[in-house]
Amino acid sequence: MDTFLIKIKERLSNIEFYRDRIDLYNYFEELPILDKYDVKTNLSKFINQNKEKNEINDYTSGSTGMPLNIKWYKSDYMRSILYTWELRKKHNITPLDRFCTFHSYIYDKDKKMYSPKIFIDKFEISISFSKLNLSFDNMELYYQKILDFKPIWMYITPSIFDYLIYFLDTKNLPFPDTIKIVELTGEILTDEKRLFFEQRTNTKIINHYGSREFNSISYECPCGKMHIVEKNVFVEIINKNSEDIGNICVTTLLNNKMPLTRYNLKDKGKITSSFCEIEKKIKQNIDILEASANDIITIDGKYYDYSFFSYLINKINEDNRFPIKSFQVIFENNNICFNLFMEKKYYELVSQQIKMLFHYDKIIINLISEPNLIINNGKIKYVINRETLNK
Ligand SMILES: [Zn+2]
Repeated sequence: MDTFLIKIKERLSNIEFYRDRIDLYNYFEELPILDKYDVKTNLSKFINQNKEKNEINDYTSGSTGMPLNIKWYKSDYMRSILYTWELRKKHNITPLDRFCTFHSYIYDKDKKMYSPKIFIDKFEISISFSKLNLSFDNMELYYQKILDFKPIWMYITPSIFDYLIYFLDTKNLPFPDTIKIVELTGEILTDEKRLFFEQRTNTKIINHYGSREFNSISYECPCGKMHIVEKNVFVEIINKNSEDIGNICVTTLLNNKMPLTRYNLKDKGKITSSFCEIEKKIKQNIDILEASANDIITIDGKYYDYSFFSYLINKINEDNRFPIKSFQVIFENNNICFNLFMEKKYYELVSQQIKMLFHYDKIIINLISEPNLIINNGKIKYVINRETLNK
């Protein structure tokens, strides 16, 4: 048995899901493939019950219609984040550089989610704006704050960045000139969009593929390739077609609290290798071909993106023992249609709560029997705008 498998098995022997059959696995490929639904419905079986003083409790929100609770020992989490910083350093971004970002929610001292409009960390390194109430009025305020704060880089999803540029163009405002680098994450970045962003903002664009479950999975090197972050994760492509394209399946190498192993992210891609001039060695890369990229919905001058709906669903789930397994939102003929994957008995309760949290008089709520992905041009969508204009 190789040392890689020995290490993985050692970690998994503390996890109920594997414990009784851990000796049966002689090859890594014999370990079962998991997906979010498997983990979500048996959450405690995937968590190491040994407690440490400092633990992190997070929810996935950025890339799927199914929120999942993710736990880390804080020391593992910090190591994992450190590797992302090593990669940023190659682009001359350091943890002391001021940056600007957008949040859907953050946690207060009592670990309750909330969404302040503007949040500046105590060291005044980052300024973050709420994605939950995007409107031109708020963007005007945010823009002024960015100019005052003078960040040198940005960490943002392509759809929010696109919206920021749309706002600047409409108001005839220049892109803030202190910002030299923009790290894009959370959605697929097409070559076409990338070129548009670079030309319009005169910044360096860095693509970052990660997920809340794992942190960084692949990160763009100055050589131009999306190298796998091999100190943090092990990546496989499963269900390959004849062109070696298949589902991206990830194993954490650092998370001992919730060691997700052979976890199918359902994004599609291909592993390639190339010689990196920066590191002077052959590196493995991921070409991402299908991943989430949601539409933005406009109602009465207000803008709602994926994180708004994800926040709403997370909030209802947190308050009601997680009835909603998955969701999809479709905007069509001025109706907002929530397609929810959940048991029928929660219908009334969840309908009431949605209407309480989201004030709009044309809401339709449907039950669906299984999560139904809509894939178009490599974009997996949970928020779909079928009105003619997507801005
Ligand atoms: Zn490289």
